[in-house]
Amino acid sequence: SKGVKNSSPLLNASSIMKENFPNFKMEEARIMARLSANENPYGPAPAVVKAISQSVALGNRYGHGDAATLIAMIAEKEGVTPEHIMLGPGSSDLLEKTAFVRFKDGGNIVSADPSYMSLINTAKSLGASWKPVKLTTDYAHDLDAMEKAVDSETNLVYVCNPNNPTGSITDPVKLKAFCVKVSAKTPVFVDEAYLEFLDKPENHSMVGLVAEGKDVIVARTFSKVHGMAGLRIGYIVAQPERLKSITSLVRSTMGLCVTSIRGAIASMKEERFLADCRNLNSECRDYVLGEITALGYESIPSSTSFMIFPIKMEGQKFMKGMYDGGVAIRVFNIDDKPWCRVSMGTMSEMELFVQTFKSVTV
Ligand code: PMP
Repeated sequence: SKGVKNSSPLLNASSIMKENFPNFKMEEARIMARLSANENPYGPAPAVVKAISQSVALGNRYGHGDAATLIAMIAEKEGVTPEHIMLGPGSSDLLEKTAFVRFKDGGNIVSADPSYMSLINTAKSLGASWKPVKLTTDYAHDLDAMEKAVDSETNLVYVCNPNNPTGSITDPVKLKAFCVKVSAKTPVFVDEAYLEFLDKPENHSMVGLVAEGKDVIVARTFSKVHGMAGLRIGYIVAQPERLKSITSLVRSTMGLCVTSIRGAIASMKEERFLADCRNLNSECRDYVLGEITALGYESIPSSTSFMIFPIKMEGQKFMKGMYDGGVAIRVFNIDDKPWCRVSMGTMSEMELFVQTFKSVTV
């Protein structure tokens, strides 16, 4: 439809849905480009699909040794010991568990605003207060202001880098100095869900600080560049005592799915696939940026698999128009203005996005 090349797996998925589930809700079936949740449009690497299928086919028992194998691989990659690593069903689970342990008695959380709200919302739901700190004019974390916001009641500082929903990054040298200083007072949680989309991820990761013994908790996920969002697997790297403080309160001994663990093990070896996803992502970013810039919109430079820019019409109306055109995006209110956050899909999905955007915003 709409002249879009029919190469997207999602287009096929939606017609398969219609065939198999005639009662499937039309609003959902009509979504041809799901660009609202920063998922990898290419899904997991073929080797991951194979590992998962084999895992299910060959007995599908409890996976006793598998978690240890994955943890050992991650430990080697991150330069820490296995005791520094905790797996979870998605990094969300680990964000929430950390929040639960740190804020069960209240206190406050310091973070940027806007930022990713999962950990902050969990803290708030436990009675903690949120001390939001505006980003700088170039959308980096305002580290000086964040440091000043930390007080004796601060039970955690949350830094999302690259930041969601802005897609922007904070200078790694400055961030490192901030983490060293602040982690002497309270743990610093650095959410690196989108790290792999950076040109040189290793220059930006704060994981080295964990190896140096700092009270820093780094979160990573297999949901983004690895294309495994639905498989739910992620990890945190932190001081062993920090991880023990979490497991002693909220242990989920059998919480992980062995197929997801085996998928993650396979995915870690798929460097070529990951590099291809990164390259296709940046091609799509360049394309969308060119198109919206030509239409007179100004996007925040993105280091991630999504892009955000202020729109020039009412947010709800815009969102409805985009959904009616088959494109799922998200609208954020930043500084009392509506912004469109669009995930990078396949190139044909991005063409549909641009085409629909044009027709909605005329
Ligand atoms: N952190 C950030 C910044 C995210 O954007 C997301 C996903 N939207 C997550 C964590 C959670 O991802 P998952 O639970 O799938 O690992």
